[in-house]
Amino acid sequence: MSAVLVIAEHRGGVVRPVTREIVAAALAVREGLGARVEVAIIGARPDVLVPALSLEGVDELLLVPAPIEEFQPECYAAIGAALIAARRPRLVLIPHSVDGISYAPAIGATGSHGYASDVFALRCDGEDLVATRSAYREKVRVELDFPGRETVVLTVRPGSFPPASRPGGVPATTLEVPVGPMNSEHRGYIEPDAGGDVDVGAAEFLLAVGRGIGDRATAEEAAMLAGRMGATLACSRPVVDAGWLPKSRQIGQSGRTATNCRLYLALGISGAVQHLAGMKHVETIIAVNRDPDAAIFGVARVGVVADAAELVAELRALFP
Ligand SMILES: Cc1cc2nc3c(=O)[nH]c(=O)nc-3n(C[C@H](O)[C@H](O)[C@H](O)COP(=O)(O)OP(=O)(O)OC[C@H]3O[C@@H](n4cnc5c(N)ncnc54)[C@H](O)[C@@H]3O)c2cc1C
Repeated sequence: MSAVLVIAEHRGGVVRPVTREIVAAALAVREGLGARVEVAIIGARPDVLVPALSLEGVDELLLVPAPIEEFQPECYAAIGAALIAARRPRLVLIPHSVDGISYAPAIGATGSHGYASDVFALRCDGEDLVATRSAYREKVRVELDFPGRETVVLTVRPGSFPPASRPGGVPATTLEVPVGPMNSEHRGYIEPDAGGDVDVGAAEFLLAVGRGIGDRATAEEAAMLAGRMGATLACSRPVVDAGWLPKSRQIGQSGRTATNCRLYLALGISGAVQHLAGMKHVETIIAVNRDPDAAIFGVARVGVVADAAELVAELRALFP
């Protein structure tokens, strides 16, 4: 019987929530594919994670001891490829996360498997597997099938499937997979400056700036404007990555979710799905973007095609 192989993601000895989501994705297609569901746990002490991943519907946990303290992409790529060669799964599911996207393409390329990234829906059409992802910056949805591919490797977007949560008794098998020398090693995590000055998740009125704001000086102008307007300043991830604002201000999949927001004024934000993930509870969105086709206009109640920096300057004059 063929298998759906899930590669578990964990950090600091804790299973990442997305792992249970992709287990749910595996369970959703197992019947259509006529496949077992196997979950591989790679790490120094995979046995420690057995209770957390003993989930109803999973047929087997594959424990793969590895000479790494924390995630290491080459190690995961080597072990993932070896597991495919040994177990010949029909489908391999990996989180579309910072960890997952650093090794999944290498596995996909090894052996010319079918491959798609950032998949958010899966179904079976007869014996064929059909994966859905978006293209052209979320403007269209694309359905992909993989004719003639014995194994298909997919990275699955976090938040796409409700997590599998019911515990079950699952047998575990330990597999020894030799790993060659690695070119990098995990030295430790550096947590971003949490800021801690504000709770953007709880704010009712958010003024959020994106990369389109242009530069640090305009971001600082926007911060002053937010204060004058009674708004809480928030931002997209590139603004944090550029060091213009602290991580505590980031909205989105890897930032905060605006759970209490009645008005969201988005300046120079494209509307990438990872940012929208943090905006799904917002009541009213006003978006300002100079691109009339920006995806953010698809969710905004009011859309303004304008230059964000110019608008900030004009509003600053109105709120001295
Ligand atoms: C695993 C993962 C997790 C992620 N988590 C998050 C997350 O938590 N939060 C997040 O935000 N992103 C996250 N991202 C990144 C996300 O995919 C996008 O890259 C990001 O949201 C884009 O931010 P942006 O809209 O500010 O920038 P861009 O996508 O570069 O968009 C800038 C926008 O500004 C507009 N613009 C340019 N100049 C002007 C101007 N002068 N006036 C008006 N508009 C202008 C452009 O038309 C464009 O629409 C994540 C990505 C991954 C892979």
